[in-house]
Amino acid sequence: MENTKKIALVTGGSRGLGKDMALRLADKGINVIITYNSKADDAQNVINEIEQKGLQAAALQLNTGAVSSFDNFINQLKDVLHAKFGTDHIDFLVNNAGIGGYSPITDVTEAFFDELLNVHFKGVYFLTQKVLPLINEGGGIVNISSGLTRVAIPGSSVYASLKTAVETFTRYLAKELGERKIRANVVAPGAIMTDFGGGHLRNDEQLQKMVSSFTALGRPGVAEDIGGVVAFLCTEDARWVNGQRIEAAGGMAL
Ligand code: NAD
Repeated sequence: MENTKKIALVTGGSRGLGKDMALRLADKGINVIITYNSKADDAQNVINEIEQKGLQAAALQLNTGAVSSFDNFINQLKDVLHAKFGTDHIDFLVNNAGIGGYSPITDVTEAFFDELLNVHFKGVYFLTQKVLPLINEGGGIVNISSGLTRVAIPGSSVYASLKTAVETFTRYLAKELGERKIRANVVAPGAIMTDFGGGHLRNDEQLQKMVSSFTALGRPGVAEDIGGVVAFLCTEDARWVNGQRIEAAGGMAL
């Protein structure tokens, strides 16, 4: 086990991709703090699973779309770091939390746009800014984007544009944080069967067939396809990977 004393903060770690990331980070010997929005019980189950692996874990409530709450969150994070982990710093930030939102361009409202903007870009930007002073030299940031920044599928213009903004932000992070030896990378999953978008893909067999038809490996993704990629980026093996976008999509729309 490597990185035994390192700590990763994963937003939206109570289910779906974030849960798998948290568990796979623990498999790498990294302690994990997850955030959850409303489901404290789910978060506690993830903590229990991590502790069963012999690692330390904690959960904090956070609405990643509410920038005005971030100062309070940072204070809570500092408290839990001090009380439970005996440190003032973390090593990795994984900006994973996100919501689905589908609408043709002609029907997009300002309210719909702003809801996605707050969670997918403004929240990611300012949470990262506020967590940055707590990240140790040699640490890293992993931002979760989407295959939809490369492949245009009608209905996802707002979501995909915001994920593209996250990809650009990530390159700037890599550039500006190089002097602190902090790396920043993007993982862009393809279509994954989670609760995302109300189980949009998981509950629709026709959509699953469509995704399978244009995916080289012939199936939609599952959460367990993604966590290991994020965990790898938080290891010494990835120390020279910086400012990159890694698509984990089974060869979608090649
Ligand atoms: P999910 O719905 O299963 O989980 C989303 C997580 O984000 C949950 O833990 C939820 O509580 C959290 N979250 C949502 N809104 C939040 C808010 N305002 N504040 C705090 N937490 C919030 O979805 P998922 O598939 O696990 O998605 C995780 C990430 O992966 C998202 O960023 C999503 O855009 C991205 N992604 C998903 C897919 C897919 O097909 N599932 C594909 C590409 C990228």
